[in-house]
Amino acid sequence: MDIQFDQQHIWHPYTSAVNPLPCYPVSHAEGVHIYLDNGTKLVDGMSSWWAAIHGYNHPELNKAAKAQLEKVSHVMFGGLTHEPAIQLCKTLVEWSPEGLERVFLADSGSVAVEVAMKMAVQYWACQGSSNKYKFIAPRNGYHGDTFAAMSVCDPVNGMHTLFQNVLPKQIFAPAPQTRFGALWNEDEMLELDELLQRHHHEVAAVILEPVVQGAGGMRFYHPNYLKRCRQLCDQYNVLLIADEIATGFGRSGELFACDHADISPDIMCLGKAITGGYMTLAATLCTEDVAMGVCQGDPGVFMHGPTFMGNPLACSVANASMALLETGQWRSQVQSIESQLREELAVCKALDNVADVRVLGAIGVVETKQAYDVGTLQKHFIQQGAWIRPFGKLIYLMPPYVIEKEQLSILTQAIFNTLKQMS
Ligand SMILES: *Cc1c(COP(=O)(O)O)cnc(C)c1O
Repeated sequence: MDIQFDQQHIWHPYTSAVNPLPCYPVSHAEGVHIYLDNGTKLVDGMSSWWAAIHGYNHPELNKAAKAQLEKVSHVMFGGLTHEPAIQLCKTLVEWSPEGLERVFLADSGSVAVEVAMKMAVQYWACQGSSNKYKFIAPRNGYHGDTFAAMSVCDPVNGMHTLFQNVLPKQIFAPAPQTRFGALWNEDEMLELDELLQRHHHEVAAVILEPVVQGAGGMRFYHPNYLKRCRQLCDQYNVLLIADEIATGFGRSGELFACDHADISPDIMCLGKAITGGYMTLAATLCTEDVAMGVCQGDPGVFMHGPTFMGNPLACSVANASMALLETGQWRSQVQSIESQLREELAVCKALDNVADVRVLGAIGVVETKQAYDVGTLQKHFIQQGAWIRPFGKLIYLMPPYVIEKEQLSILTQAIFNTLKQMS
């Protein structure tokens, strides 16, 4: 592989183009293993960023892609429709929290968030409240890298100062405080309540990641926060957008993180694991009320239509992924990953360079006291057969659900050994 060309011409995510972090060439992947060009076999601790929940090169997903390839890879969704999209949307409506009835298929998570935010603004505008166009977001959130999505990401992590002249100014609430599993403290809602009281007349929606804040800090918070957000949004006549792009399809231990609080948002974004990590696809679901609101009056339509909207190949693979989820096996798999992560990461707590260890569902996080160089950590992990990509002070695991006990131990051991060596 021409690594030199890669280094000199190809951007990789979140690294310098001129002085990039090392990049490892992959030849193929199978199950929970990623194989490097030089024959190195790595256990995947990342599921390719929350996506590859069933592992790589899965026979059922492969079969679905191949079968669809023989029929039609893509047709425009304007004026045409097809079975893969219909079947997928049926499943999403059926599985998602009560009341979410309408599905907009988007081509990536960030676009799904843009669509959700546009829907919320148009919903109010079409009802004569065109002053309701701002968003309230808790700090430490992450919603994607496009402009509107970026505007509701944590203002510090999201580097808002860099883009302050272009980003719409949103309203930030304190990050949820009570941890998942801890004793709920109602006082933490006071500030959000106050913000809503003061700003509801100009706010279209509260947007948040339910229960698990992902790339903005890997924090797990009390479901009561979500419940109370739902109540406050109703009280102040503001929509609630749940960004389930990372949490959707079982990762947190429930099919959707909203299920921990038994609430329904007005708008919900899905992505990442939706095709089992095969292709880019996302969806924005909304209630009948939101759809009606958006489409009443002028212009009467929602002005958004990605070229690859409802891509049949992606929908077919998503349907195969849904079929695997439908067996319900994911639930026990995620449960056993959770207990093994709790057991095996606990030893890291004793290291003096570790600030915190936390686990929820098939997500394990070790937070260090100082940020280590990603390249250095990664080299250590790879020597131990583990593919783990930390960011900042966060070393975290979110393996494919199909991972076996010994394979998961390779990952937890790699984290412990590496941190021990560095302490
Ligand atoms: C990854 C992610 C996004 C953005 O999705 P992309 O497909 O990368 O655009 C949005 N929200 C959350 C919560 C995410 O984890």
